[in-house]
Amino acid sequence: MTSSTHSHPFEYEARPVRVVFGPGRRAEVGNEVDRLGLSKVMLIADGNTPGARTLVDVLGDRLTSCWDEVAQHVPLELAERAGKRAAADGVDGLVSLGGGSATGLAKAIALDTGLPIVAVPTTYAGSELTPVFGTTSAHHKRTGVDERVRPRVVIYDPELTVGLPPALTGPSAFNALAHCLAALWSPDGDPLTSALAADAVRIVTTSLPELASDPADLEARSGLQYAAFLAGTALGRTGTGLQHRICHLLGGKLNLPHAETHAVILPHVVALNAPAGPEWVARLEPFLGSDPALGLWELARRSGLSTSLSRLGATEEDAHEVAGQVAGSPNPVPVEAAAVEALLGRSLDDLPPSVGQ
Ligand code: NAD
Repeated sequence: MTSSTHSHPFEYEARPVRVVFGPGRRAEVGNEVDRLGLSKVMLIADGNTPGARTLVDVLGDRLTSCWDEVAQHVPLELAERAGKRAAADGVDGLVSLGGGSATGLAKAIALDTGLPIVAVPTTYAGSELTPVFGTTSAHHKRTGVDERVRPRVVIYDPELTVGLPPALTGPSAFNALAHCLAALWSPDGDPLTSALAADAVRIVTTSLPELASDPADLEARSGLQYAAFLAGTALGRTGTGLQHRICHLLGGKLNLPHAETHAVILPHVVALNAPAGPEWVARLEPFLGSDPALGLWELARRSGLSTSLSRLGATEEDAHEVAGQVAGSPNPVPVEAAAVEALLGRSLDDLPPSVGQ
């Protein structure tokens, strides 16, 4: 929003979440559990996630249950089994450690039980700051919004992300960028949320290239995780639309990796929407150039990300089917199946985004 648009009406309501940010702060998980008055928590973390050992140690006697089976898109039967274990073990809270999949599993349990969540994110997915949940069954991903699933406390410890492999780092950073764009063009936006989203774009576009030469650079890692915090906050205040709907349909149908799918699709959805968003296009110009769609596509390629939907495993038939299912999705430009099929076609063929395609 430029200075000439300060007369735009808006509503702003702060959402309650406690955020603890800083290298090494995973050691404070026990204190945060105590602050919430919890004494019997379940730790949800897949075995490979860094920091699991520390959390077990610092949680000590508060740790009543451990769950280490985590999967993308949260299979419903997995959520049901984990929920049953939480009930059988009599836990009074959930601590999730990991990316959006671990957070998502905690959310699926919280949806049914109302158990409070302390989230310790290790990727840039941003789920820890949203009231959005998703579960998958029979190749269909169901998403919804419920305040019960929004974590009460989020502990960001950038040290946990230092070992995130390049193949996950870039796509996850693009997942955060997708949240920024969704917030910037949302009709539910407000000036504060737009400021957060634009600053997150600025930080990702500087921090991500820095990691190319030194993936363990803690300052750049901290930048990306701070950007993920801003992006998740922005998304949690606005909501999703066409971009996320395409990714969820493809993810549910083909079990495509969520972050990689966002990275491939985002430049093309930005190209579709840019003509309708001169304000955010101008706002992002210092970071992405005058054509933000192309700027994102080039950033992805420079950062070693795949820009091809075919390479992820989707086909023209999938694109046709998804295009037919997204009509009516919230989006600044009315969604027509033909336009979506065209943009998916460009991503299948690994072509750069084309404005007004
Ligand atoms: P993920 O959680 O599935 O993690 C991907 C892989 O990275 C896993 O193998 C995991 O073990 C590994 N990993 C995670 N952190 C690591 C680290 N620091 N070092 C090394 N390995 C690490 O991936 P994701 O992209 O974070 O999450 C995707 C899921 O989150 C999808 O199901 C998506 O729908 C969901 N999501 C939900 C929201 C929301 O608001 N509800 C937002 C974003 C994503």
